[in-house]
Amino acid sequence: MDSKHQRVKLNDGHFMPVLGFGTYAPAEVPKDKALEATKLAIEAGFRHVDCAHIYNNEEQVGLAIRSKIADGTVKREDIFYTSKLWSNSHRPELVRPALERSLKNLQLDYVDLYLIHFPVSLKAMEKCKDAGLAKSIGVSNFNRRQLEMILNKPGLKYKPVCNQVECHPYFNQRKLLDFCKSKDIVLVAYSALGSHREKQWVDQNSPVLLEDPILCALAKKHKRTPALIALRYQLQRGVVVLAKSYSEQRIRENVQVFEFQLTSEDMKAIDDLDRNIRYLTLDNFAGLPNYPFADEY
Ligand code: NAP
Repeated sequence: MDSKHQRVKLNDGHFMPVLGFGTYAPAEVPKDKALEATKLAIEAGFRHVDCAHIYNNEEQVGLAIRSKIADGTVKREDIFYTSKLWSNSHRPELVRPALERSLKNLQLDYVDLYLIHFPVSLKAMEKCKDAGLAKSIGVSNFNRRQLEMILNKPGLKYKPVCNQVECHPYFNQRKLLDFCKSKDIVLVAYSALGSHREKQWVDQNSPVLLEDPILCALAKKHKRTPALIALRYQLQRGVVVLAKSYSEQRIRENVQVFEFQLTSEDMKAIDDLDRNIRYLTLDNFAGLPNYPFADEY
């Protein structure tokens, strides 16, 4: 766990860096910040960039990646770029055009991973992989039942390589993680630092993860920060972790996740913080037939 560029092998043979840079920011944040922050993240050592059509910043994030390729910091193949299919393009004939639109905004030839942002079928996604526009395909926000439905589909050509879900010490997804591991599907954690806490999406009365006394005590013990403890926790339990920051100092801090280790007692103490607090409940979608968060996991 000492290499900044540690990667996990996916079930289709591709590799995903275990630390990813989150690029979502609330609408009022100027889009140029995504450009600046993504460049800083690549300079700091991030090689996995998580974005999506709906974040409305693929143009800036693509520009950042291309400028870091142009100045020799990285090659295209060093970067693992994830985009996501939004729910207005689920009809099979809309899937490839949606990916092509993302690629055009990015000015890239392919994405490393294309995710279904919100549960639906995988069929049209498989064609994007066959066409080479996406090296890997996966899902996001799927519960166990929805994953099983996909895995049991007759004629399934490619298993999803990952399921990107909310995951942090207050919502550690132990059962979903065990299930994903048993199916060779990588769990990718979002809101691993307790989410952006945007009013529109997150209950403002929910506890602030990074103020948790146990995380603070462990931070003190390891001479790190609560954020680093929360990120390190995921790596040690075999989860790929995303960390969003638009601050240079915190971007640089977050790559220190490879510089220390938690003991099994530390891990146990963090496991015990689990309290079923989902920050992003996506209540607006609760009426949809595929709403994923009504099941236990
Ligand atoms: P997060 O990674 O939980 O981060 C939350 C906040 O922590 C950020 O706003 C950041 O603020 C702050 N932060 C970062 N590093 C820190 C540090 N070292 N110390 C203290 N604070 C720190 O945020 P998230 O946006 O909820 O999730 C991360 C990424 O996951 C997103 O950007 C997106 O790419 C993805 N995501 C996917 C889905 C999905 O449905 N698939 C949903 C949500 C998120 P500053 O910028 O001020 O540092």
